[in-house]
Amino acid sequence: MASQIREWTGIQQFPAATQTKLLQLLGKLKQENVSTLTILVMGKGGVGKSSTVNSLIGERVVSVSAFQSEGPRPVMVSRTRAGFTLNIIDTPGLIEGGYVNDQALQIIKQFLLNKTIDVLLYVDRLDAYRVDNLDKQVIKAITDSFGKGIWRRALVVLTHAQLSPPDGLNYDEFLSRRSEALLKEVRLGARIKKQELQDSAIPVVLVENSGRCRTNDDGEKILPSGAAWIPNLVEIITEVVSNGSKAIVVDKKLIEGPNPNEKHKFLIPLLLAFQYFFIVKPIQRAIKGDIAKESKPLWELRDMGLARHRF
Ligand code: GDP
Ligand code: MG
Repeated sequence: MASQIREWTGIQQFPAATQTKLLQLLGKLKQENVSTLTILVMGKGGVGKSSTVNSLIGERVVSVSAFQSEGPRPVMVSRTRAGFTLNIIDTPGLIEGGYVNDQALQIIKQFLLNKTIDVLLYVDRLDAYRVDNLDKQVIKAITDSFGKGIWRRALVVLTHAQLSPPDGLNYDEFLSRRSEALLKEVRLGARIKKQELQDSAIPVVLVENSGRCRTNDDGEKILPSGAAWIPNLVEIITEVVSNGSKAIVVDKKLIEGPNPNEKHKFLIPLLLAFQYFFIVKPIQRAIKGDIAKESKPLWELRDMGLARHRF
């Protein structure tokens, strides 16, 4: 099968400086015995998922549309280079008519069966001014499908990075506000607890897929900060791969089993029964015992006319 995977020729489309950096990063991964990388790309429709896939591969491999007429199925693009295999899975946006389309989600899960997700690119636009209910739903759907561990393997990718922020805000300020708002939503949706935060900082990476993206002297596409974004994105992907967390193995259990975030829920009735017999019952018994032993309080004796008024 491996012989059917196409050579990654798109890499030659990149300026020499980018090619050198990419080959260095792939070499580093190989040193760590990582010879395959499977990247899952998810997010709402029209945010730039497919464009980002094309930018990374360096070829127009998946179709891009200004209107939300994406195909209903995920597409996996595989390329090899110097013994290294890169798989990128582009998915259709999950939202339809204001809700997560469960069928679309199911198709994505089936497609991923028996695959291992090394990295999740959660894509959204930088030039959006608020986080809404749809973002929450997509984040929750991803968490419910693959478990919250997937966020340890995630990058938040913000497209349309070459923007002029609305009046009064400078670029960095705008970027940090947008990132914070989105990351907060991810933390809530993924139920990441405060104490887990430190080791699960999710990197935010900027992308500009437009043909009008500015370039540096080497011809590399750059962000407003001046950084070449393709090598930068790949570098952060390699960092996430090496952060000590586990890749997500999509097996039958994950797809058909209980929601991975709720797999301990069956313990709840047991816990309640335990509480009833070992905590509630003994307390009730103790209270009954106390009542039986109790000497009458002063007010009761008073009401019975046995004590003098002293209050
Ligand atoms: P998807 O539905 O998430 O796969 O989004 P597409 O990749 O199909 O992109 C939707 C539209 O946004 C297309 O018209 C793209 O050309 C455009 N687009 C995607 N990424 C960028 C970006 O980084 N900058 C700009 N200016 N346009 C983008
Ligand atoms: Mg698309």
